Amino acid sequence: MSHVFPRHTKANPPTAVSGDGCYLIDADGKRYFDGSGGAAVSCLGHSDAEVINAVQDQVAKLAFAHTGFLTSEPAEELADLLIANAPGDLDRVYFVSGGSEATESAIKLARQYHLERGEPQRRHIIARRQSYHGNTLGALAAGGNEWRRQQFAPLLIDISHIAPCYEYVDRAEDESAFDYGQRAAQDLEDEILRLGEDSVMAFMAEPVVGATSGAVPAVEGYFKRIREICDKYGVLLILDEVMCGMGRTGHLFACDADGVAPDILCIAKGLGAGYQPIGAMLCSKQIYQAIEDGSGFFQHGHTYLGHPVATAAALAVVKTMLDRGLVQRSAEMGEKLQSALVQKFGQHPNVGDIRGRGLFRGIELVADRETKTPFDPKLGLAKKIKKAAFEAGLICYPMSGTRDGVHGDHILLAPPFILTDEQIDEIVTKLDLAITQSL
Ligand code: PMP
Repeated sequence: MSHVFPRHTKANPPTAVSGDGCYLIDADGKRYFDGSGGAAVSCLGHSDAEVINAVQDQVAKLAFAHTGFLTSEPAEELADLLIANAPGDLDRVYFVSGGSEATESAIKLARQYHLERGEPQRRHIIARRQSYHGNTLGALAAGGNEWRRQQFAPLLIDISHIAPCYEYVDRAEDESAFDYGQRAAQDLEDEILRLGEDSVMAFMAEPVVGATSGAVPAVEGYFKRIREICDKYGVLLILDEVMCGMGRTGHLFACDADGVAPDILCIAKGLGAGYQPIGAMLCSKQIYQAIEDGSGFFQHGHTYLGHPVATAAALAVVKTMLDRGLVQRSAEMGEKLQSALVQKFGQHPNVGDIRGRGLFRGIELVADRETKTPFDPKLGLAKKIKKAAFEAGLICYPMSGTRDGVHGDHILLAPPFILTDEQIDEIVTKLDLAITQSL
């Protein structure tokens, strides 16, 4: 009998014993193509020699040093590398252990920033309905996924949720994509004015929405308008790139494609590529300066901040990505994956939308293409597809739900950047089989 508390108590998952490039191998020797990188984590595959060596070297040299006393070489080098490549005036990096810790830290940093500047009345956060920002209480409160929030609602801080930028569902027929984006962004200004113009501390959003709706990028101009609105009212822009950052969209940082820079940027998953648990929050010079000039201490922290082995792994991941041109490869292979998906499913009566950027792709399944009506959530279609694909040896990330919070059934694909043309065929063939079997 297993003593591991599994995700689903009735599940009896196979045991993963090894990794080989884009494949995971279970105890019976069955190979699974990791078509979603877990959940957009394994961007370098499962057996990258350089990252493995970096982890082994670091753990032998220095396993741990508490950041209350000391910094470490890999943490310093990784922060330099990230800042050298980061957008705007992001200037400092706060290393944590994962995505929720990064978004939770961002919420607290935003609050402290306004306090240091003598604006204690700024306490509201605005986020979007179609979003996920993590499972700790602050991050969960920020996310708009009703299903994940429901049970914990009495414990959550009050955060407003405005409309997402979800072109496939919300753009009117006679509206241009640009006009739609401006209309969606207007929701932010309206909400700031409703709450009180100097009472909002931050707006949080994913540049490309991941876990709630399968790789939905904003339309052109949306985030530029969001940036303008934030600046107009002194509201900090927090971008959550936990899932879509680190090369996943074909840009090192997803917001590069939108031509905006945030005040705070959260990254995780692809940063450690699964070799170590790590996340990070990058903040602007202005925010850091306010803390430095004020109390001099960010009132937050975890034991494993800047963990030497985790930062050494991430340093090797980012170097590998940059040295081997893998961000560019994510862009190129992403286009090929999109074409292959469109070729196979473009005319499928139950595929409403195929979208995304780089190797971050989503398929939205609908009962009716004309009306874009989702399937009845009771059918659990995405889950059925996940199961059928898994049996066929393909791991893909399913999402099910209703319009509010999570729209319909989606499949997210986020394979390792090292995948080949043949492996794109393997994804499409196995997915086709799984969809056919599940409908
Ligand atoms: N933000 C986003 C956008 C995410 O996709 C996730 C994880 N799916 C998180 C935050 C939370 O990250 P973690 O699971 O590492 O805590």
